[in-house]
Amino acid sequence: MPVLVMKFGGTSVANLDRIRRAAKRVGVEVAKGYDVIVIVSAMSGKTNELVGWVNETSPLYDAREYDAVVSSGENVTAGLMALTLQEMDIPARSWQGWQVPVQTTSAHASARIEDIPPANIEAKFAEGMRVAVVAGFQGVSPEGRITTLGRGGSDTTAVAFAAAFGAERCDIYTDVDGVYTTDPRISSKARKLDKIAFEEMLELASLGAKVLQTRSVELAMRYKVKLRVLSSFEEQSDEAGTLVCDEEEVMENRPVSGIAYSRDEAKMTLISVADRPGIAAAIFGPLSEAGINVDMIIQNIAEDGRTDMTFSCPTEQVARAEKAMEDAKSSGAINYHNLLADTDVAKVSAVGIGMRSQSGVAATMFKTLSDEGINIKVIATSEIKISVLIDRKYMELAVQALHDAFELEKAA
Ligand code: ADP
Ligand code: ASP
Ligand code: MG
Repeated sequence: MPVLVMKFGGTSVANLDRIRRAAKRVGVEVAKGYDVIVIVSAMSGKTNELVGWVNETSPLYDAREYDAVVSSGENVTAGLMALTLQEMDIPARSWQGWQVPVQTTSAHASARIEDIPPANIEAKFAEGMRVAVVAGFQGVSPEGRITTLGRGGSDTTAVAFAAAFGAERCDIYTDVDGVYTTDPRISSKARKLDKIAFEEMLELASLGAKVLQTRSVELAMRYKVKLRVLSSFEEQSDEAGTLVCDEEEVMENRPVSGIAYSRDEAKMTLISVADRPGIAAAIFGPLSEAGINVDMIIQNIAEDGRTDMTFSCPTEQVARAEKAMEDAKSSGAINYHNLLADTDVAKVSAVGIGMRSQSGVAATMFKTLSDEGINIKVIATSEIKISVLIDRKYMELAVQALHDAFELEKAA
């Protein structure tokens, strides 16, 4: 029988009523003749609560135990979803990541899926089971420890299962009815897209649009998974939501197709480091070893052989970054006067494949921000995006102003 993957995010399984509603959606697809793999997130808010408990217990925690704790939210919803389906007379059972097994690397808290041998679940489908409910976000390392895939990781679980089982489609059910030109919670003018190219979705996701985890888009692109984002709160047709697809299938042709933001950025500045060959390696080597996701980097103009080095990283990694720098300083690898952490910043980005061929995007972006009196602290660009770091209090204003400036409320 053809296989369909259906993923339900946290708000879609937030309580027993919503789990029942999601189970009904699954029932519709089972009735059409699909064997369904359901991937569930933890109930909304649960993972945050678990992360909070870990941080309170141990600020520089052992990531293996972090994973043991934060993976547990999905175990609850997987079991409840299987029970709900059974109550509807649909043959179903739950699977935790290690039972499948979802084999991952040992990079705890941000593990990558290496393989999903389908044999165990396929054997159950062959026996007449119609729905495999799998706890998203989790797997097992070669050492046999529980791993998690990074926040939002259930999306990646879903796409990886769709690839492993050759699913006809991977439907991501969430609390919005598709991918928008920007977060519809920030701008009422945000417009739903019927289709978005993999490259643009990848960039939007990596710049903060959390509707899909970045890695899930990468996997869908690599394995040609038909990926769709749609609402779990509305009746759905086969055309509903947003299809993430190849660039050639997207009709819109404009320089910018979306605005993304990330609240969780910190700007870190090392004051007065020696400006010598090898200094960047001496700073960013230890940061990388500490697992810090450095994004933007600026080295300021040097004076008297000393310079300031600025980089951005996720706010939650500030303590680790500080520790890595202090350790590098005490070992003599680097020398600096002070490390300043500015956590009141946000990153706002304009993304569009059309930027490759149309100029003037940066100029429009900087003029728009300047007209709003917003100071740009750091700039980074690539072929299809421009990002700026600004004071967090202006983030929503910046998103709205840029959405207006690039006329994203209008269909191209
Ligand atoms: P889930 O719990 O279902 O995984 P998430 O909260 O992770 O849901 O992702 C859905 C949210 O992503 C939406 O509620 C919305 O606020 C946010 N979002 C950010 N950018 C976008 C965008 N461009 N289009 C749609 N949603 C977006
Ligand atoms: N529950 C996890 C999180 O909140 C994974 C997910 O929902 O995708 O990050
Ligand atoms: Mg999510």
